[in-house]
Amino acid sequence: MVSLHLRTPLLESTPLSRVAGSEVWLKMEAMQPCGSFKLRGIGRACSHHVARGVQGLVSSSGGNAGIAVAYCGRKLGLPVTVVVPLSTPERAQEMIRGEQAEVIVSGESWQEAHGHAQSLCGPDRVLIHPFDDPLLWEGHATLIDEAARSGLRPDAVLLSVGGGGLLCGVLEGLHNNGMADVPVLAMETRGAASLGASLAAGRHLELERIATVATSLGAKKVAARAWEWCGRHNVTSSSVSDLEAVESCLRFAADHRVLVEPACGASLAAVYGRHPFLRDKKRILLVVCGGVGVSFEQLLEWKQNLDREGP
Ligand SMILES: *Cc1c(COP(=O)(O)O)cnc(C)c1O
Repeated sequence: MVSLHLRTPLLESTPLSRVAGSEVWLKMEAMQPCGSFKLRGIGRACSHHVARGVQGLVSSSGGNAGIAVAYCGRKLGLPVTVVVPLSTPERAQEMIRGEQAEVIVSGESWQEAHGHAQSLCGPDRVLIHPFDDPLLWEGHATLIDEAARSGLRPDAVLLSVGGGGLLCGVLEGLHNNGMADVPVLAMETRGAASLGASLAAGRHLELERIATVATSLGAKKVAARAWEWCGRHNVTSSSVSDLEAVESCLRFAADHRVLVEPACGASLAAVYGRHPFLRDKKRILLVVCGGVGVSFEQLLEWKQNLDREGP
């Protein structure tokens, strides 16, 4: 089966290690062709469906998942339709079209776009879910395979959580590689803390609304599998403000000359903000999940607006 993702660099970060007072290893998923780890899982799912003979792919994400499906379709020679809500920025639509996919703008909310996308599917045209699919998790798990193959055995893994697809994949990867005892710090922004709210309440719940600049974390409810994993692996959940996430992106750009979305900034903020969870960890693996929905100007604008709003 073809692999659509790249093996990404794993680098020891001098600036982040200095802040943390321990080794911080960066798995640079921002370097994937579509700008995020999504390509691992989505590539895995798309290759699987092609091998069984589907004729087309559908996505309902105007973000990194939609771009990844469009990219995979182009690479595999399959037509892709991405249905996005009216709120999707023109720039994101352009990027999806740039991968030769058809963009349909439909509905006010993601739910409406998703409903439309579902109606386009049939036996030979499948919808690729952005986070809730075992094929995706299998693909995401390869980032841990790579880190393990490089000889890294971390004392903690640090990642961001939206719908929990990345979390499921990383946990699967840890368990596959004899690292079932390695604790995970799962970061969200406060306006999208669906995992944090579920853990605090002790039940798998859905948020009423999402309010964050970290749009890639904007799932109202995490996948059932992600919730279950938290019951059988040492997962600590924490959250940061949008301002902390954005400032961490700016600081990371200065430290490593790489731009990432605030969704990824939430993880970086745990290091820059010296999160207590990391205090006794000697070797930290940070998944630099990336994201294309960002520019330097946009980061500065977010920071300006958030500064004005105050804490
Ligand atoms: C999708 C995405 C996330 C969240 O991943 P989930 O699998 O939904 O938890 C975080 N960061 C970026 C850049 C993403 O594209």
